[in-house]
Amino acid sequence: MTFSIHGLAVARGIAIGRAVLTASSRTEVRHYFIEPEQIEEELARVRRARDAVAQELQRLADELPPDAPPELSALLDVHLLLLQDELFISGTHQWIVERRYNAEWALVTQLEQVARQFDEMDDPYLRERKADLEQVVDRILRYMRGNTATQTPAAEAQCSLLDGSQAGDALVLVAQDLSPADMLQFKRSVFAGFVTSAGGKTSHTAIVARSMDIPAVVGTRVAHQLIRQDDWLIVDGDAGVVLVDPSPAMLEEYRLRQRQIALERERLERLRHAPALTLDGQPVELQANIEQPADAASAVKAGASGVGLFRSEFLFMGRDGQLPDEQEQYLAYRAAVEGMQGLPLTIRTIDIGADKPLERHGRDLILNPALGLRAIRWSLAEPAMFRAQLRAVLRAAQHGPVRLMFPMMAHRHEITQTLALVEQARQELQQRGEAFGPVQLGAMIEVPAAALMIDVFLQHFDFVSLGTNDLIQYTLAIDRADEEVAHLYDPLHPAVLHLIAQVIAAANARGKSVSVCGEMAGDPGMTRLLLGLGLRSFSMHPAQLLAVKQEVLRANASKLAPWAQEVLAAEDPQALLQQNS
Ligand code: PEP
Ligand code: MG
Repeated sequence: MTFSIHGLAVARGIAIGRAVLTASSRTEVRHYFIEPEQIEEELARVRRARDAVAQELQRLADELPPDAPPELSALLDVHLLLLQDELFISGTHQWIVERRYNAEWALVTQLEQVARQFDEMDDPYLRERKADLEQVVDRILRYMRGNTATQTPAAEAQCSLLDGSQAGDALVLVAQDLSPADMLQFKRSVFAGFVTSAGGKTSHTAIVARSMDIPAVVGTRVAHQLIRQDDWLIVDGDAGVVLVDPSPAMLEEYRLRQRQIALERERLERLRHAPALTLDGQPVELQANIEQPADAASAVKAGASGVGLFRSEFLFMGRDGQLPDEQEQYLAYRAAVEGMQGLPLTIRTIDIGADKPLERHGRDLILNPALGLRAIRWSLAEPAMFRAQLRAVLRAAQHGPVRLMFPMMAHRHEITQTLALVEQARQELQQRGEAFGPVQLGAMIEVPAAALMIDVFLQHFDFVSLGTNDLIQYTLAIDRADEEVAHLYDPLHPAVLHLIAQVIAAANARGKSVSVCGEMAGDPGMTRLLLGLGLRSFSMHPAQLLAVKQEVLRANASKLAPWAQEVLAAEDPQALLQQNS
């Protein structure tokens, strides 16, 4: 039966494929298709892992001291029974044989399917067995991870071959929630679309989905409960709707839309080499936001005039507490600088905290993460780590133009402390006799307090960049990652627009560079307003560049200025914006 689920549109386009349900804790499991001749080996891998885990549990049971609590021995018995459950194993085998999933993927797919059945049971005792099954499967997966040598080299090769291409039907990942680090793992993956139950429009998970240019819908609340493993789905990333089990007529309609979108993209491609000039001849800088050094080259290829935001924290995430040292960071930043081929790279220092915890499960521990020890606050609280990052950036700056930018500044003392640490990092390199290059220094304006005292920031920094995602979050007191309040997250709220206008005007008056690097910059619906407010530098995901360039080419900046002032003074800016679009 067809039904639809509504959520937030975060990454545009249409994806049609089968659902792959996954728990966020298991997203690190590798997903790839196997060749028919590898089926036997994958089946054998499941058997070997199961037998090894069974032996391990049996040994534990045999070695239990006589005074061990009886529950422990009963628990081990339950786990052993679950391991021997032929139904579970034959289900897993089916995913391998019929769908050609690799062994780990088949196991988690079967787990999700059976877990759903457990959830629906009336008997609370049986319902609780779900946790046992999860533990057993996690043990099998751990065993497999420790024995990856048993994986055939052909399977390894296949894994990389299949990155981004498909052996069977297209697949759509469905999860309750995915952390930004999880999303990054899927950056070169087999998935054609993403659906999550949690998350807001500018949560970092949504941002990474957008950077992958894969249709995605987040904040659906119920998708992971209503969608079943292997259901056919249409993900409408423009409307924020997921159609489950669509009829043939719907499939046909959406396939047509897919073709129209592809044609539209081809048309936009023609703008790639056109200079970004408004109708009245004003040059506009269109830069890219990136998450990884390897993205630098794609940003240049997409026609960006530089990188306006490299979110360096992605180098730090999901590493089980092993932070990258100065040398590792230097090599990463250098790779990004070189990927830019002489175009400027803006590296933002680590912005960890809120919905980007260092550890996968860290966010539960913090009281109020978005208002907590985040971004520059965390860096200043960890000066040794911070100076290592600063030294790495300064060293990378000998290989090309680098701008260094600091997130979430709000206080004057944060400015002085930060600048002093940059100076100290320079001196440390000098003392070591290590070469380094010049960097321009910039502050992100993403806390209302900073926008209101913009003159102080302009005195101390070479440039400023508006982080509108956070600026909206903090001005309106809306958690950007919380789907429950996503309807209140309003980029056109007059208070937000006033802060943005004030920062742009102040920077322009002082002749300092100002850009927007929040998601607003990549929204073509906002381009004319931002141009009218005097903005001439936008930084966005490379996939948005051409759509924004099209708006720039059609705009007359000087005519837009008085209209933008009207929008600013309006009680309902949205209405004015729609009239003029
Ligand atoms: C922002 O807040 O707008 C921004 C660009 O930074 P991030 O999204 O990484 O918080
Ligand atoms: Mg921010």
